[in-house]
Formats: sequence, C-alpha cells, structure tokens
Amino acid sequence: MTEKLYLTDPLTTHARERFSLPANWECVRYSNEPLLYRIEGAQYGRYVRGPKAGQTNWNKRLSPRQVLFIPWADHNKWKKAWAQKNGRCEECLGRGSTWHKWSKQAGAETKPCRSCDGTGNAR
Ligand SMILES: [Zn+2]
Repeated sequence: MTEKLYLTDPLTTHARERFSLPANWECVRYSNEPLLYRIEGAQYGRYVRGPKAGQTNWNKRLSPRQVLFIPWADHNKWKKAWAQKNGRCEECLGRGSTWHKWSKQAGAETKPCRSCDGTGNAR
C-alpha cells in the first residue's frame, strides 16, 4: 500500500540544502548512476484552500525541470548527520515512509520504510 507524499524525503531535503533550492522544489524522479543519485525536479505550487491546502499541486509546475546529481557517499554522510542531530530514522528522516514512485495524476507516493518498520524511530 502506498500513501501520498506530503513531507519531503531525504534526497529532496538534501538537494534543497545542497543546491540552495526553494522549499517548493520537489523531486519527480530519482535514478541511480554509478556512484551518483540523479535527481530530477522542479518548483511546484501548493493548494491554497480546500481539503488539500498546503499540499503540493502537481499540475502547477512553476519552473523548468532540473537534473541534479548527488554522490552516494555524500548522501550517506548527510543522512547519518541528520539522523544524529534529530534522533530519527536516517532512511526516511523520521517519516516512517520512503519514496515509491511519482506520476502526474497521483504525485509522489511512498511506501513504509523498511529500515524502521514504518515507525520513523532511530534503530
Ligand atoms: Zn525509517
């Protein structure tokens, strides 16, 4: 079972920090290259009112798609530092769920984190 992704996942959070991207920059696709994560994303609007208020509106892209790269080693280091600082699971940043897939209709979807069994707690 998957749920919609409303909070950011580790690679998106790391990419925003590393490349000084705005808070509405969202990832739409990840892939693994040798020694690198390839991250594709853009800025998206959010719903202002209604039951989805505050959530990402995947039909409202505000910037061209960008492709960014983060070395695996850097990302692992960043996750460890984050988990230490916050005392939460380093795989999902304490959300209890991790990236599953993205589609224009459904947006980003997640699945339960295998590292913490969906609790978000540090091991
Ligand atoms: Zn986890």
